[in-house]
Amino acid sequence: MWSRLKNWAKIDLRLVPRVDSPLLIKEGAGSIDPSRPDIAVHRALRRYGSDILKVPVIPGSSLRGVFRQAYEQLLISAECKICDISQNETSCMKGKEAGKDVEGIWSSSCEACRLFGSTALKGRIEFQDAYPCETGVEEIESCVILRSGVALSRKTQSPLNGAKFQQEMVVRHPKDKVWFDTSITILNFRLLELSGLIRTLFDFGSGYARLGHGTSRGNGAMALIEFPSITIACRGKNLEDISKEVPPIPWDEEDKPISVPFLGMSGRKLSKKTHDLLLKNWREMVGNVG
Ligand SMILES: [Zn+2]
Repeated sequence: MWSRLKNWAKIDLRLVPRVDSPLLIKEGAGSIDPSRPDIAVHRALRRYGSDILKVPVIPGSSLRGVFRQAYEQLLISAECKICDISQNETSCMKGKEAGKDVEGIWSSSCEACRLFGSTALKGRIEFQDAYPCETGVEEIESCVILRSGVALSRKTQSPLNGAKFQQEMVVRHPKDKVWFDTSITILNFRLLELSGLIRTLFDFGSGYARLGHGTSRGNGAMALIEFPSITIACRGKNLEDISKEVPPIPWDEEDKPISVPFLGMSGRKLSKKTHDLLLKNWREMVGNVG
């Protein structure tokens, strides 16, 4: 599965918080600066042209966690058996402890661990950090708002002394001039994984899978600002070579040919029709998981 790069898919995304759902990815450690709010959004340095700015960021690890959870739910709903990665005793991680070789670990791992990895098996999916787009970076701070929160006494239903706090949140720009750019890359994918990932992506873009802090308070529902751009490529004469190892991809005539010189691969940029065909065939493919 890893000794040779056979195929590759890259999904470029433009994310925004939904209008009614602010986003809060919390800063790791509390700031000692008294002018900062009690809970601040996570920021990181990023180069924009000749400037280096500190801007709100959605870490790839946060995206990965939400996508894994949504992908697992999708598999469970299709009656695939998935391990509980948080339970050492029963998860696929125990394969390593049992002294199995790579083939043994792969065959005993569940579909979620096969794609996202475990401590016993390397994952084949990567999530880039999501940064504000270059064209909207000057307006990003206007999307960061300050909200007050307070804990209530369970006896009097009035605010508890000293329990008031302020938190920053990122909201959607009223004219959609600001969005977050990111990409997901999947290596040596099987068709089941690519189509399952596309399905998960649309769950995420519909606000079903939420990101960050306070999701039960309505935070973290995201939208895709435009249809995701998916590019897939493989090493070899043509993409139909993939069909030797995975079920045939239902190509559409509108898929645009591309080449990825640095990987020595050729491929296609998928049209919306191919997305739809992949989604339609997903349940059928899940039934064929070996
Ligand atoms: Zn597992």
